Amino acid sequence: MTSVSIHDTGALFQIAEPTDQRRAQRRPGRGIGIDLGTTNSLVALAPHGAAPRVLRDSSGSGLVPSVVAYTTDPPLVGRAAQALQAEHPSQVLSSVKRLMGRGLADIDFAHPYHLSEETPGLLRIDVGAPVGSQADSASRRVTPTEVSAAILRELKLRAEAELGEPCDGAVITVPAYFDDAQRQATRDAGRIAGLQVYRLLAEPTAAALAYGLDRGGEGLFAVYDLGGGTFDISLLRLHKGVFQVLATGGDSALGGDDFDRALAARLLQRSGVGEPTRNQLDAARLAARAAKERLTEATATRVALPGLPELEVTRAEFEALIEPLAQRTLRACRQALKDAGLRAPELDGVVLVGGSTRVPKIRELVAETFKRPPLADIDPDEVVAWGAAIQADILSGSAREGVTLLDVVPLSLGLETMGGIVEKIIPRNATIPIAARQVFTNYAEHQTGMVIHVVQGERELARDCRSLARFDLKGIPRLPPSMARVEVTFQLDADALLTVSARELMTGVRQSVEVKPTYGLSEEEVDRLVMESLDHAGDDYARRNAAEARVELGRVVLALRTAVAEVGHLRELLPDDERAGLEAALAAADAAMADPDAAADPLNRARTALEKVSEPFARRRMERALNAGMAGKSLHDIERALADEDALQEKRAGHTPELLEPEEP
Ligand code: ADP
Ligand code: MG
Repeated sequence: MTSVSIHDTGALFQIAEPTDQRRAQRRPGRGIGIDLGTTNSLVALAPHGAAPRVLRDSSGSGLVPSVVAYTTDPPLVGRAAQALQAEHPSQVLSSVKRLMGRGLADIDFAHPYHLSEETPGLLRIDVGAPVGSQADSASRRVTPTEVSAAILRELKLRAEAELGEPCDGAVITVPAYFDDAQRQATRDAGRIAGLQVYRLLAEPTAAALAYGLDRGGEGLFAVYDLGGGTFDISLLRLHKGVFQVLATGGDSALGGDDFDRALAARLLQRSGVGEPTRNQLDAARLAARAAKERLTEATATRVALPGLPELEVTRAEFEALIEPLAQRTLRACRQALKDAGLRAPELDGVVLVGGSTRVPKIRELVAETFKRPPLADIDPDEVVAWGAAIQADILSGSAREGVTLLDVVPLSLGLETMGGIVEKIIPRNATIPIAARQVFTNYAEHQTGMVIHVVQGERELARDCRSLARFDLKGIPRLPPSMARVEVTFQLDADALLTVSARELMTGVRQSVEVKPTYGLSEEEVDRLVMESLDHAGDDYARRNAAEARVELGRVVLALRTAVAEVGHLRELLPDDERAGLEAALAAADAAMADPDAAADPLNRARTALEKVSEPFARRRMERALNAGMAGKSLHDIERALADEDALQEKRAGHTPELLEPEEP
């Protein structure tokens, strides 16, 4: 750890130490890699530098369906749970990854569950009473985090059976666009499952690691991930052996399931079923999925829907059906390239991830779009787990060539300052881990506390951003305005979890929080917020100016009222006629501020007028202070006061935060 010393000694307040756990004694070779997928999950091992190996069940399958059945206690996980889904739809949960770290307000997609939210941002799924229990027995509510924990526990057991001993810790992969809340929920799930989560790793980065792309030192890569229900495209840059996510894109409701639906609809139509029943639809979808997977190898296949004559489907017919869906993924690819400012020929490689990239047509179109054959030697179902296993092995302490892996911050992180203005501390797209700090000052005299309000978003005003945390820095000594100096440090660790600490520099009073947002933003919402900030850039600028003007005017009014109250009775300092002018200007300032929608101009005019009429009063007070007060002050104090004033001016002029060297991951 280099220059960030926020977790150390001398604290008057409790300080979070989120990094301590990572320093625990490691057991080399016993780290496991987990791909916690929406449809399927996998666990892999790569002990002591060995090639990664996905752990399989007795039937040879490495995929554990991400399905949990609360028909028993403890619940069933995987294929056994899947088998119960048709019979107990409300108790068998699948695709909960979509609910991780979300609140009710974020759920804007179709799902079959009974959801509730007891505390804001904490979703619960009603899974009913256990099968076979008394009719009136209480129904059970589980959080998405608990459901994921059940899956992780199953994977952990699988790994421990293989290792013959307890595992040490795990690397769990998450989509590159997962926000703080979604990552936190995933990390919590790991903890609930009894795993030491070494770190979370972005899925595309894991895929790139599996191909050893980190060994080249430099390069630009695309990772095309088409699974069952989601499509993700990520562009990575490898720079000096470090991966950075340059851009992400995709569609959270597009995948192989849509191929199944399209083919099922065609099969029903060709069989002359006009209005299929629920059962017919389900049967058609299952048959379509199997036929689709056969068409990856064969150019034609026969399909039988229950009670209907057999049909032949050709690969060409299937390809024509999925063409529009495939084109949607390609559009997202072109958009991501554009976002990253890249052209396809500049890339050094394209990696295929996800079961649906087995479809030959998809491979062909990806090759065409990126102008090169994609990397597909590693099973696209397993490639993410491979990368997680390699990283887990490194983090368990195995002497394996290490790499540092960077992700980017999806939305800027900042603090609310006076007037509701956001001061961005860590900008959007900064690479993590990162630490940044900025010094703030007190506004009013006798202010002995400061509210630290942490927000995330691109907008200029705090009320338009998402509130992440709020805490108080108390016990600041009573100092004149602008004299207290509070240094606020934001530290984002390698998992994109944020710790914010504040310290008053003169007294060393400090306070720190680990920010755990209570609910997440959807990928679309991140996009929407970014778009919105662009749309509102003009408005926001005007509102920010107005807010700043209001703060400045308020500062001057407050300072003058304080001065008048303290020394205004001394006629030699404030003659009656001057006092009348001053009171009038103060009243005019109050009137200007009374309009909550006032623009910057009238507020600035009121301030200029006030400064002008109070100028002689200020000069006299200054002279008096110099004559009377110099004796008590050291040169050092004066220099310091001047330096602080300089610092303040600098900040008002749009000073950027000082970036510190990040902590080693
Ligand atoms: P997720 O990332 O959502 O967990 P996966 O990467 O496991 O999903 O992909 C599952 C999808 O891959 C399903 O739609 C499945 O039908 C499809 N799939 C699996 N094998 C094949 C194959 N041989 N040909 C075509 N599609 C396949
Ligand atoms: Mg996947």
